[in-house]
Amino acid sequence: MKRVFNFSAGPAILPEDVLKDAANEMLDYQNSGMSVMEMSHRSKMYQQIIDEAESDLRKLLDIPENYKVLFLQGGGTMQFSMVPMNLMKNGVADYIITGAWAEKAAEEAKKYLKVNEIASSKDKMFSYIPDLSNLKISEDADYVFMCDNNTIYGTKFHELPDTKGKVLVSDASSCFLSEPIDVSKYGLIFAGAQKNVGPAGTVIVIIREDLISKEIDPKTPILLRYDIHAENGSMYNTPPTYGIYLCGKVFKWLLNLGGLKAIEQINIKKANILYDYLDQSKMFYGTVDKKSRSLMNVCFKSTSEELDNQFLKESKAAGFENLKGHRSIGGMRASIYNAMPTEGVQALVDFMQDFEKRNE
Ligand code: PMP
Repeated sequence: MKRVFNFSAGPAILPEDVLKDAANEMLDYQNSGMSVMEMSHRSKMYQQIIDEAESDLRKLLDIPENYKVLFLQGGGTMQFSMVPMNLMKNGVADYIITGAWAEKAAEEAKKYLKVNEIASSKDKMFSYIPDLSNLKISEDADYVFMCDNNTIYGTKFHELPDTKGKVLVSDASSCFLSEPIDVSKYGLIFAGAQKNVGPAGTVIVIIREDLISKEIDPKTPILLRYDIHAENGSMYNTPPTYGIYLCGKVFKWLLNLGGLKAIEQINIKKANILYDYLDQSKMFYGTVDKKSRSLMNVCFKSTSEELDNQFLKESKAAGFENLKGHRSIGGMRASIYNAMPTEGVQALVDFMQDFEKRNE
């Protein structure tokens, strides 16, 4: 068996210990004689798995009591629809446009309400987070939407927008559990699991209870109603059982590491290995504003497209997978989520240094 250094933006690398642990339990989970995949979601054993996952997530993020945790399906994209469908009251929402995912969220929301794009970094190919100091928050905004970490470009909000009292909704898909956050500052946080916490197919929603409304359009599909999922402990229908089980294992892995403060320190150290090298390299350079840099997705280019292609080819042959940048911006992107070991980043930098020397 040979594992590569996998820099995929998602589905992405998972902690090796978690995968081994799941492999050990694959055929017989705790003397049940079956895999978690084969287990009824209504069984006591499964209830314990989902309850423990929720309680470990609450510990990690210090989630206040008046917030519900939901384990749903449909990825981040389903939340682009569920958020407006469920949070709409006045029929107006403010969106901060920091990339293609925020744009997609805004486009979807326009089907249900009036969307005001109150800030955007589109003018410079989303290479920075716009000034958040005096946003024109709409008087009647039902919520303000942000995409915390912009997976494609490698930017991240390092402070929260002042929403002037309006509900803040955050798409945290690509930075979820990478650092401590104050959940009480948000109305709703959602994250697709496939980047930092588990396999694709599970999406986690953390929502303040008073935002869960029954007074929504009665034609809203039942599976798109937060109230239904909240009332049924994420089990109105069959939840993504195996995905939730794996997320639970990742939560325990993080707790054992020392929680989110500890992983944040590791993530800063890891990202700095790469950014420090980029900042002094004569061949490679980071493509975004330094103040907006992400700890999770590091985007960079070399001095020419030919060199980019040569680098991608040679790095792949050397065991560094999925370094190609998103097709919309080209270049390279190293996604260095929680599970990427420091050695993986160091090995990549060593390879880049050697490549630079060889191609001076
Ligand atoms: N939001 C962000 C920030 C993302 O990176 C992605 C996926 N790359 C999505 C939303 C969409 O997620 P999904 O594919 O799970 O619908």
